[in-house]
Amino acid sequence: MDCCPECAAPVSAQDRFCEACGRNLRVRRTPVGGPDSPAATRCACGGTEFDRDAFCTRCGLARGGGRDRVEFTLPGVAGVSDRGRRRRRNEDSMAFGRVRGRGVAAVVCDGVASSERAEQASQTAVDTALDVLLTAMQSGGDAERSTADAVVAADAAVARLARPEAPELAPSCTYVSVVATEDSATVGWVGDSRAYLVAQAGAACLTSDDTWAAQLVAQGVLTEEEALTDRRAHVLSRWLGADSGTDAPRTVTFRVEVSGLLVLCSDGLWNYLPEPEDLLEVLPRGVTPVEVARELVEVALKSGGHDNVTVVVVQLRGGHGA
Ligand SMILES: [Zn+2]
Ligand SMILES: [Zn+2]
Repeated sequence: MDCCPECAAPVSAQDRFCEACGRNLRVRRTPVGGPDSPAATRCACGGTEFDRDAFCTRCGLARGGGRDRVEFTLPGVAGVSDRGRRRRRNEDSMAFGRVRGRGVAAVVCDGVASSERAEQASQTAVDTALDVLLTAMQSGGDAERSTADAVVAADAAVARLARPEAPELAPSCTYVSVVATEDSATVGWVGDSRAYLVAQAGAACLTSDDTWAAQLVAQGVLTEEEALTDRRAHVLSRWLGADSGTDAPRTVTFRVEVSGLLVLCSDGLWNYLPEPEDLLEVLPRGVTPVEVARELVEVALKSGGHDNVTVVVVQLRGGHGA
């Protein structure tokens, strides 16, 4: 016997809706609004009252700490987001969900530090995009199509946050997402947040950064080594926001044939682990997605934690059900 994630009423695995509160049970997702949502400020026991020291008056557990450290877990997918050691705010956001019998969708966005309300930009983008991806997944929509639709919707939503009198500060963020079904996965991105595929046989980076340095490497102006230390390494050539001019993500779709992990991350992680092999080396074996995410975030923090760091890990089962 399961229970409804909304109202805790008993439900069975076949139920499509909770009879007590009407919640759609086919879809499970992280709370809209992320760490600042009413759902996330509720205790795991369901309690909503906290004493002056922020302990639940019902079960005594400490309340979650807002954006500084965020952890979300669903079956087969988990994410950890951390402010890091140097930044004053965590401007990264993540959101993910699963549709019973269909698969998993996940989004990571990194607020651009030089824009205003960057954490609002990234939260708005992940919420808007995930909504599009999960809705399409329920109706069996094409993953590349829905990934493109998600980016267009997120870009428009972030653009609406801009103040006309301060266009140069327009809230903006990067974007990376995955839609993973039983036998295929589609990754889409704008900016320098990345996706890695990690399997027994090896690891690969699935994205290529939308940065000026990456462009110059592609054109043969800079070598890869020069690009790593170039001050333009992190200057984005594409992003989401009022001043972006972005209309479509770059996407890649591949067949999932063996089990493995799909890792979405902000540059707060890959700054310290740029090569896919680096990831393979530090990755713990045979543990759950949340343990993998925690471990990778820990590596970034131990390496200096200069930036916000966010890692979402999706388990790919390779033909045995996403
Ligand atoms: Zn319910
Ligand atoms: Zn409680």
